[in-house]
Amino acid sequence: MTNAVDSFAELGLSDALLKTLGEIGYETPSPIQAQCIPILLEGHDMIGMAQTGTGKTAAFALPLMEQIDIKVAKPQALILTPTRELAIQVAEALQSYAKNLPGFHVLPIYGGQSYTIQLKQLARGAHVIVGTPGRVMDHLERKTLNLDHLKTMVLDEADEMLRMGFIDDVEWILERTPAQHQTALFSATMPDQIRRVAQKYLVDPREIKIKSATATVAAIRQVYWQVSGMHKLDALTRILEVEEDFDAAIIFVRTKTATVELADKLNARGYAAAALNGDLNQQMRERVIEQLKSGALDIVIATDVAARGIDVPRVSHVVNYDIPYDTEAYVHRIGRTGRAGRTGNAILFVAPREIRMLRTIERATRQPIAPLTLPSRADVTNKRVTDFKAKVAEVLNAEGLDFFANIVSQIAEEQNVSAEEVAAALAMMAQEIKPLQIAGEDPAPARNFERDARPGVFGEREQRKPRFEDRGERTNSDRPRFEDHPRREERAPRPAPTGDMIRYRIDVGRDHGVEVRDIVGAIANEAGIESRFIGRIGLYEESSTVELPAGMPGEAANALKRTRIRGVPINLRVDEGRPGGSFGGERKFSGERKFDGDKGNFKKKKFGDR
Ligand code: AMP
Repeated sequence: MTNAVDSFAELGLSDALLKTLGEIGYETPSPIQAQCIPILLEGHDMIGMAQTGTGKTAAFALPLMEQIDIKVAKPQALILTPTRELAIQVAEALQSYAKNLPGFHVLPIYGGQSYTIQLKQLARGAHVIVGTPGRVMDHLERKTLNLDHLKTMVLDEADEMLRMGFIDDVEWILERTPAQHQTALFSATMPDQIRRVAQKYLVDPREIKIKSATATVAAIRQVYWQVSGMHKLDALTRILEVEEDFDAAIIFVRTKTATVELADKLNARGYAAAALNGDLNQQMRERVIEQLKSGALDIVIATDVAARGIDVPRVSHVVNYDIPYDTEAYVHRIGRTGRAGRTGNAILFVAPREIRMLRTIERATRQPIAPLTLPSRADVTNKRVTDFKAKVAEVLNAEGLDFFANIVSQIAEEQNVSAEEVAAALAMMAQEIKPLQIAGEDPAPARNFERDARPGVFGEREQRKPRFEDRGERTNSDRPRFEDHPRREERAPRPAPTGDMIRYRIDVGRDHGVEVRDIVGAIANEAGIESRFIGRIGLYEESSTVELPAGMPGEAANALKRTRIRGVPINLRVDEGRPGGSFGGERKFSGERKFDGDKGNFKKKKFGDR
């Protein structure tokens, strides 16, 4: 957050992109953007050590978009991502940055999507392709994707691609890109194999690392809620309502637009809230802070820059509604509470894919951040009832109740009901915006993706629908990220996972050109199952078997039923036969991928099915 660059205009971006950034509410570049954008605009190759949440997508997307010649409807940039979900997300980000670039076209291509659609889209012409390695490779082999006009290549989440077993594919693609192009590699960690790829394919790369300087934070209670099962806004209001010593809060979001939207929503729910962002002039800004001090406002929703230096002792809570870009920003943010010797509370909302950032913050601040259990409906109701009782008790002690007591007696008599019933009616009327009993359901408790391996086998499903042509299709979710599990050796035999496994049969095999890595990739992507939880795979001529953990949620099973590998519906079902037996005529092909390192190609590849 202390990056010296305060505006995108300083980075050398074009007016069209600057206009868009203003419109979508980006106020200042994140640290990774401030560092990467000038380097990429100068045409250097680059290695960026950055994880999700740092703003890395815009860091590579904006410079590559500057290089696109819209008149040439050919792929000029290729972005490789480990999952289809990320491919869609990155493509959506580019599309949103292209708001003021008429004719700009970005296309996500990934396994599991029909070839027919992709071929049509490719034929129509796209300037940027965002794809998963397997599918990109297929299109290159089939010559339906041509990289002759390529100017930029981005490897996004390179360590994830390695972890998912796609690194050979990535190299295969790198081998086939034109000699003259810029390459940017982003990775949260830098395992040897990624370092090796960088050395081999990047030319004199500049290396950018988000510094996560250790910092001590004051005695502030720090908790996080893993976003799942409930909208952030509902979670926020539940939490704020039951927090014991709530007085006032600063809520941090990323964009100017979000400050205004959230302020409006909180106002509608009865909170005295206002937005604080870079669009406010100094006088308006001071007015908001004054109102927060005086108690005219209880909540201020701010961007990092706008909240710099706020010193309001009554701020009992800081909420990181959007996760900060780095630990420094986190430390600055939470320093807005716990001032003047008071206790402070910092609450962090963390999406499953941002868990890594949470751990980085913990390491940098050398303090654990405890998970927060979302208050249940009953908790909120109890709190509201307690507050209500306290208010009534206060009024009972006040003067001048006789007049009202008389009215209650009259109503009771006229309606032939007890005074208690009249009181109940009045209590009901008194609820106003916040009913004592809150509506809605309690979400199922969030799964801890890292620590509780078994329940974390199956990833959360994604709620959002993609904007691209597969709109109706389910997308795979933020897959669980396990930070510290042992990495599977690329070509080591697949270890048998522990726990109950069920063997399934699928209708694709060697004759379809399918290899083990295709099956692993499709299952990992489609069902959100970590590849290490996928058991033995038997590859036969016309079908295959795959062992998956017992207890697969219906949603994941349904997703797999609809999955296609190399264009063929896999028709997943429990395998009733003995291993390989029910398909006795078939010769078992021993599991792992066959990579012909010399030729840099995969053996036995067929595309007969397409
Ligand atoms: P990423 O780390 O690329 O996945 O980005 C995480 C989120 O930050 C996305 O929702 C972006 O839209 C948002 N974001 C990225 N850069 C900025 C910025 N400079 N200002 C505000 N939001 C941003």
